[in-house]
Amino acid sequence: MGNSRGVVRIFEGRPTLEGAGVRLRRAFGGPEMGRLFDPFLLLDDFGSRFPHEYLAGFPWHPHRGIETVTYLIKGEVHHEDSTGTKGIIRGGEVQWMTAGSGVFHAEMPKPGRKVVDGQEVEDPEMKGLQLWINLPSGNKMSDPKYRNLLSSETPVLRLDDGTEVKLIAGEIKKVPGTGNVKGPVSDLSVPVHYLDIVMQDSSSFEYALPESFNSFIYLMNGEVFFDDSKVQAKPGSVVLFDREGDSIKVTTRDVGAHFLLIAGRPLNQPIAWYGPIVMNTQEELQVAMQELRNGNFIKKKATSYDYFRY
Ligand code: MN
Repeated sequence: MGNSRGVVRIFEGRPTLEGAGVRLRRAFGGPEMGRLFDPFLLLDDFGSRFPHEYLAGFPWHPHRGIETVTYLIKGEVHHEDSTGTKGIIRGGEVQWMTAGSGVFHAEMPKPGRKVVDGQEVEDPEMKGLQLWINLPSGNKMSDPKYRNLLSSETPVLRLDDGTEVKLIAGEIKKVPGTGNVKGPVSDLSVPVHYLDIVMQDSSSFEYALPESFNSFIYLMNGEVFFDDSKVQAKPGSVVLFDREGDSIKVTTRDVGAHFLLIAGRPLNQPIAWYGPIVMNTQEELQVAMQELRNGNFIKKKATSYDYFRY
């Protein structure tokens, strides 16, 4: 490594009302951003200390042509789809859903539990994110599936200067005492890297990426610097990197930081977007709308894969 990537632009997230009235922070989203962040379409942060901001949830709605990745750090999301698949995504867990030809589902955030003075009580604090990944045209009508990843199945690496990396998808090279470590999510139609990183103050972290991959950071806490400290990002912002260079280099100064690092291979295909459905052409959107009206939108029951049983 050595040729680290520069910052293209820093985006401030926007407060957005979504679902049945969830107050969330849209880090980025929409067709314009989808072209810029290709293959990523949207990132929502529905974290909040106040249950009234998330309890309304995301009741029944369809998806087609994309993947949604729900990552819970704290709290729960109760999930159910129209073909009978049900589950709870808990703190530290990931649901990597390929909507493909179509899923009709409800996603309801709920408070998790915590132990106070030896007693289990409700913990109102929610920390959760949902990323939308575009599917290549040849995979948009593929069979739907869920990949469920437990916290205990996700490697957490502690690096030299105290940096902690939770590796959901991607690869960290030459970890002392371990060698190369790969994230469990690797069987994807679009290659994606997904890391949750906690850095201490006064430290640096470098991550190698294939050329041409798009990459960004979503900062949840603290402060990070790039380009040898010339560029600074604040919590709630998204840092988009340029596509040249073989690594991303992040440094901290007075305080530490908690952020997601996400990267993927761009599709370079047309985007036709209507709400939760993202296709390549207007005609494909019209077919989807018609099928929703006619009741033949759902083509197949989704298959569920639990990583710990692989
Ligand atoms: Mn959804």
